[in-house]
Amino acid sequence: MTDRFETIRQRMVQEQLISRGIHDPRVLAAMGEVPRHLFVDDAMQANAYGDYPLPIIDGQTISQPFIVAYMTQALQLTGTEKVLEIGTGSGYQAVILSRLCAKVYTVERLNNLLAGSRRIFDRLRCYNIQAKFDDGTLGWPEYAPYDAIMVTAGGPEIPEPLVAQLADPGRLVIPVGDQDVQELQMVTKKDGLIQVELLERVRFVNLIGEHGWDK
Ligand code: SAH
Repeated sequence: MTDRFETIRQRMVQEQLISRGIHDPRVLAAMGEVPRHLFVDDAMQANAYGDYPLPIIDGQTISQPFIVAYMTQALQLTGTEKVLEIGTGSGYQAVILSRLCAKVYTVERLNNLLAGSRRIFDRLRCYNIQAKFDDGTLGWPEYAPYDAIMVTAGGPEIPEPLVAQLADPGRLVIPVGDQDVQELQMVTKKDGLIQVELLERVRFVNLIGEHGWDK
């Protein structure tokens, strides 16, 4: 899609992503194409490609472009996967994922956000995204197992239902820590073995639910 932000979007890809080690060409292409400015308030569109997270409604945020790209690249998607996202928010991350895999299931616990993201999925013709209102710490058992799972809110621990719903082989990325800072954790399941690897230090909004924070 070309639009009036094309130039600054390409600059974002170069200066914030490629220069910091994002190398998966499919991830870079998706980040260079998806109109991030459509996921924020009109008044904030000019800031949409800045090197920081962006506020959306209800105190939630869209992650900084680098974090979106980093977490997406970590899932090593090839195009055939079924992916579960927890924390639909604005829908931006789900749209990035939808270009890199076969099907995205995404769960959001705030109705306002879910309604807005559904509108944008339609507008951008992302017909391979299915979204629902629920506590995502319980996963989405109906369509499990998932080849990859991404949690875009930070919790005190890795929700057990998500590990159970991960395919073998499968990859799950989630911020885990306290309510101020977290560590991005990569959980891999292979031949029945679960391994956890620590990636970057990050700051996410709270993952609230049965296997998350109370509030
Ligand atoms: N991926 C989003 C980021 C949104 S911020 C984007 O690209 O815009 C994190 C989101 O997680 C918030 O919308 C918050 O409401 C949601 N969230 C927090 N706990 C949740 C839970 N248990 N289940 C589903 N969504 C949750």
